[in-house]
Amino acid sequence: MISDAQERLPRLPRLIEQATATFTKRFAHPPKWVAIGPGRVNLIGEHVDYNDGFVLPMAIDRHIVIAAAPASARCALSATESLPQVPSHISRLASDGQEQLVEIDTTSAMKRSDPAWANYVRGVIAGFQDRGITVPTFDAMVVSDLPMGGGLSSSAAIEMATASLLEIMTGHFMSLAEKALLCQRAEHEFARVPCGIMDQFASAMGRRDHLLLLDCRSQQISHVPLQDDSIAVLIVNSNVRHELSDGGYAQRRSQCEQAAAMLGVSSLRDATMADLAAAESQMEPVNYRRARHVISEIQRTTEAAAAVEAAQWDDVGKAMYESHASLRDDFEVSCAELDLLVELARGISEGQASDVLRDSVIGCRMTGGGFGGCVVSLVKKHLASKVAAEISKRYELKTGIAATAFITRPADGAKAWLL
Ligand code: ADP
Ligand code: MG
Repeated sequence: MISDAQERLPRLPRLIEQATATFTKRFAHPPKWVAIGPGRVNLIGEHVDYNDGFVLPMAIDRHIVIAAAPASARCALSATESLPQVPSHISRLASDGQEQLVEIDTTSAMKRSDPAWANYVRGVIAGFQDRGITVPTFDAMVVSDLPMGGGLSSSAAIEMATASLLEIMTGHFMSLAEKALLCQRAEHEFARVPCGIMDQFASAMGRRDHLLLLDCRSQQISHVPLQDDSIAVLIVNSNVRHELSDGGYAQRRSQCEQAAAMLGVSSLRDATMADLAAAESQMEPVNYRRARHVISEIQRTTEAAAAVEAAQWDDVGKAMYESHASLRDDFEVSCAELDLLVELARGISEGQASDVLRDSVIGCRMTGGGFGGCVVSLVKKHLASKVAAEISKRYELKTGIAATAFITRPADGAKAWLL
């Protein structure tokens, strides 16, 4: 139960307090370090990361927080009936979102094991060990206000928080890019998810009031200010996930590769709309449409970044709606629920709900891999909660499913500190 005083605290400080209190309760000694990893949302640039394109994500004000202490801080008194003493080479890991207390022998090489959620942590420990860094034994408590599996990258957030924790714990610090790549590898090898670099880069390099324009080929980033105080980012989770997703992703990747081969380029990043038009008659129609999405989306993303910087909101909104249409029609990774959410946002902004909400939504699109998950919108800040309520109400009326909506802002990247 959160008291009134806590309710007034901003979200992250409250979560950090919760992490330290839960740690102490769970392990019967206080934490020494705290690490945070933000989730992320992608404003535009979808399904282009594996085509060497540009993406425009931001870290969000929703986090994984880990409170931790060295095993040496354990004392005999901390042994209780529910938490017996463990050998000094065994690390203990708990999460408020998971039942099981996990024991990890951090003095030996990491292996994938049960429970699956701890593999994100094991994978990051493995990355440190691969660099010859000794990881000491610790106790750690994970708390989070990020939905798990909701497309906001709680996986990258837990990896980046873990990597930041291990940096401060071991005294070995790395560049943000190296840390993000270490975490991407953890996700590939320990969670067996073949993700691109966007999630970890956004969680590592997020900056308050900035978007991140990431070139997935060169791995160069530039921060794009999103400082207009009248604009807010609204995320609405459809709370559906259609099972097609795994096979659908692999199939899209291979169709993009086939299209690139047909166009004689190593990736679709190097093809233009003119190249595509010239090759249309020789291409499988489905591969042609996949390529049309990717090539146009890369262009929309760089244009949208420039439009955000110039505060040309009509152009940003147009790019977001076009991105959604392209993902729906050409890339075929949307679903009825995501399409409905986008149409509700557009309709509300056209005045279908009330005149007060006319022009309240700048743009809206599905975000993430698709087949369910979230839509992201840019909205007028003073109307944001009314828009969220109206979209949720109409969505539930049409589908019978309760959506989850929240307003967020670009946040700083992962970090850790001594308490
Ligand atoms: P997303 O990254 O979109 O949230 P993923 O399926 O990639 O979805 O990652 C979700 C997984 O990350 C969870 O199934 C769980 O294993 C792990 N995870 C996320 N948040 C937590 C948490 N608070 N505690 C423990 N594990 C977590
Ligand atoms: Mg993930």
